[in-house]
Amino acid sequence: MIAEVLTIGDELLTGNTIDSNSAYIAQRLTERGYWVRRITTVGDDVGEIMSVIREILNRKPSVLVISGGLGPTHDDVTMLAVAKALGRDLVLCEDCLERIKQFYEELHRNGLIDDPTLNEARKKMAYLPEGATPLENTEGAAPGAYIEYEGVKIFVLPGMPREMKAMLEREVLPRIGERKFIQKKFLAEITDESKLAPILNEAIERFRVKIHSSPKGFGKFIGIIIFAEDEAKVKEVVEFMEGKGIRFMEGW
Ligand code: ATP
Ligand code: MG
Repeated sequence: MIAEVLTIGDELLTGNTIDSNSAYIAQRLTERGYWVRRITTVGDDVGEIMSVIREILNRKPSVLVISGGLGPTHDDVTMLAVAKALGRDLVLCEDCLERIKQFYEELHRNGLIDDPTLNEARKKMAYLPEGATPLENTEGAAPGAYIEYEGVKIFVLPGMPREMKAMLEREVLPRIGERKFIQKKFLAEITDESKLAPILNEAIERFRVKIHSSPKGFGKFIGIIIFAEDEAKVKEVVEFMEGKGIRFMEGW
């Protein structure tokens, strides 16, 4: 199963914000047995977003997770671009509008904003591509969207990491299947990755797990990530490799 991730925001392209969202989303998708084939980043530009979405849809992944650009300001154009890429209109989601209204009223009651009224900028967040299922934002104002398009499950999430994570856990993961893997990180005390390679290959064959390795710590250690169905399986793999003379430490 193939997945792609698209993050959107000028601040990501200028390097002012490090794109941690794509890494987080990719980890969660990988645990669910998806192969994340590409991660793409574009700025807040309708044309750019549209064309990259069309390219991604042509590759027909099972899942596409998009993050960023759902806010009230004029530069937040993601929903419009998604709608255009799919040849759909943006339509008002009444439930979303009601939820946004309540959100700002609550901020106002708590003394966090001066004006709770639904101005145009706030209303804008209630428009989703036609046919989309709204995704609840428990941490912020802007709803996300879920759209099935020609066999691709498309999820549109906010850019604020706190909002994105909550929506991913609550609204996205339950729609894309059971967790298939857990991932555990180890440091292997071995200096030469080439000596490790045959042992890793044997473990992958024998236990049907995925293992990634990368050099760490000035050639003293190799970082290893084991993707396995559960803790017991990870333990088996670690014991097998320890039996081959490799010393393991948990975590990096
Ligand atoms: P919403 O969160 O509702 O989409 P918004 O569109 O205004 O509102 P963004 O502009 O996408 O949100 O992002 C808000 C903040 O979240 C940014 O200033 C940035 O710091 C952070 N952010 C956005 N995208 C990412 C990302 N890919 N990785 C890490 N942080 C991000
Ligand atoms: Mg933005």
